[in-house]
This record gives sequence, structure tokens and C-alpha cells, in this order.
Amino acid sequence: MTTGFIWDERFAWFDAGPNRRRGPFYSPMAAYDTRESKERIRELLVASGLVDRLMPVSPRLMTEEELLRYHTPEYIAKVKALSDGGGGDAGEGAYLGRNCYDIARLSAGASLEALYAVLDGRVDNAYALVRPCGHHATRDFGRGFSIFCNIALAILNAKAQGKVERVAVVDWDVHHGNGTQDAFYSDPSVLTISLHQAGYYPPDSGWLNETGDGPGRGYNINIPLPPGSGHGAYVETMKQVVLPALRQFRPEVIMVASGLDANAHDPLARMMCHSGTYREMATLVKTAAEELCGGRVVACHEGGYAPAYVPWCALAIMEVFAGTKTSFQDPALKWIEGWPGQDLQPHQADVIGKAATVMKNISAAMR
Ligand code: ZN
Repeated sequence: MTTGFIWDERFAWFDAGPNRRRGPFYSPMAAYDTRESKERIRELLVASGLVDRLMPVSPRLMTEEELLRYHTPEYIAKVKALSDGGGGDAGEGAYLGRNCYDIARLSAGASLEALYAVLDGRVDNAYALVRPCGHHATRDFGRGFSIFCNIALAILNAKAQGKVERVAVVDWDVHHGNGTQDAFYSDPSVLTISLHQAGYYPPDSGWLNETGDGPGRGYNINIPLPPGSGHGAYVETMKQVVLPALRQFRPEVIMVASGLDANAHDPLARMMCHSGTYREMATLVKTAAEELCGGRVVACHEGGYAPAYVPWCALAIMEVFAGTKTSFQDPALKWIEGWPGQDLQPHQADVIGKAATVMKNISAAMR
């Protein structure tokens, strides 16, 4: 099993700016999206020795022509102008500092190269540790730290090159993958599935009734989980909704929007996942990929804002992808596992049951 890995020091250099989006009565502080959580992932991969088992894949800048497969010329020009000037917000909470346009392009280009590496058979699966994240960015609007919609761009460009036709996206970031949903809302060739904290961000999307439009109807699945959901709710969602949907759809490759902000320590969410949750979800996705599409899985990093804990979740996922286990043990795992409410709760089961019904109905429509 060969696992590709992408990292570039310039991802750490991305300037997500000051956190001033909450208005004039807000004492300035750094944005939640800092370099630290990503750099600490890379450090843990090196310290644990796992990085030696991964195959480096080189990122590159996404070209403007490739960006145009999803984003509007006006939006790309706006991002570039902000970057050439003093920096600014590309929409809503999507700040980029001076000279960060190329880093945003690098993040998108890395996601595409990770997908190409898997589709070309150079690696079996891949993890692209990219920054800035992408899943909130729509065609003409940056949102929630997302400048360009990395995964949508990767899929659209790979499809344009004739490298792939049917792609499934599993977004386990704690926020709704609204940008990826938008990109493929009318497209039956891309199944988009998002597990997230209900009504959180963006607050106006991510609901059960958003199932796609026109020919894409049935190819978008949201599972809006209640705040406080933990290991049991996430694993049950995977088993009852995500895996059956993947089996029904039969993708050629599975992309994972790998936000790790549903972890129990995250400052930007209220969920209780731990490294064991990500280990199990990664195992379930990998097993489904082996059954359905030759093991082809490409994870692109999204959110995750607890620098002390996010690296353990990333290590667990990449150990699963690489089919190995390092000697490094998550020191907080036993503690978080013991929190009351980690097992599936009735009000969570209710949402998952509704999502499973939606999934079954739309699966029937797919046939
Ligand atoms: Zn997130």
C-alpha cells in the first residue's frame, strides 16, 4: 500500500489575517486558522516516523485556466488584487494577506496533484495537507477561511482531462461543505456527502432537504448532527448513511474533505470526536474504496483549530491510509473516550435515521 503525502512550507506562510469579522466591538486577535495546527501535524508525522512510509507528491500552483473551471474571472481577479494590495477579505471570513494568492493557488494545485497521483496509479491513496482550506468557497465568494474550493477544482479539472467520471466526496469537517455542494448541486456524476454540526457554519445551509437539483437531484446528502455528537454518532452516520450511499453510487475515486475540527478540543465546534473516531472513519472509507474503486481515496485537509489535538487525528487517518501503526499513542485518547455521551444518543439517532431515509429514497431514484 503506497500512500502519497503533500505538504509545502508555504502553506504555513499563508496569512489568514486578523479576526475582525465580528464587528467593531471585538478586540483584535489572530484568526483561528493558524499555521500551528498544520505544522504540528507535519512534526508528528516526522517524529513518529510515519512520514518515512509515505511517498512525497509535489504540489504546484493551480493555473488560472484551472481555477476558471469553478471560479468566476471577477472573483479570481478580486483575490489577486487583495493579495497584490494590502490583503483583505475575499468574502465573509476569508481573509488573505499580501502575496497569498499564490499560496491559495498552491493549495488548490496540491489537491489536484494528489488526485492525479491516485488516478494515475502512482500511489494507492493520498493525503494533501493543504492550507488555506477550500470547502466553503463558492464560485464568486470566499467564506470561512476558504479562498478557492480545492476539492471541487480538483474534481472538475480531473474530469476535464478525462481522467475520471464519477467521484464521491465525503466531507467530515465539522462545518458544512457548502462550496463543494454548490459546485455539483446539479451534477449527477459527483456525489457530495457532508457530516457536520447542524446549523453552525454556514448557518443557512447543510440541511437534510438539500438533496440536489435537476439532474443532480439525489446526489447531495447532508447529515446535520446535533452539537455534542461524539464517536458513536459519527461512526453510526458512516455506517447507516455514508457507506450505503457510496455503495449505491459506485464512485471511481473517493475524495475526503478532511477537516478535523469535530475533535473534542476544537475551539470552533462543539463535537466530541477523538483520534479513535477518525481512525475508524478512515478505516470505513478505505474499506469501502477497496470494495468499490480499487482503494482510491484522496483526502484534502480542511479545518481543525486545536493545535494540541488535531495532529493526533491526522496521524490516525494517515496510519490507516498507509496500513501501518506507529508506536506513538494519543495521550488524550483514553480521557476523551470516557466522556459521557460518546455513545450514540437518541436525539442523534433520530437525525441519522432521517438522513438514512433521505439516502434510501434518493438511492431508489438513482436506479
Ligand atoms: Zn471546518
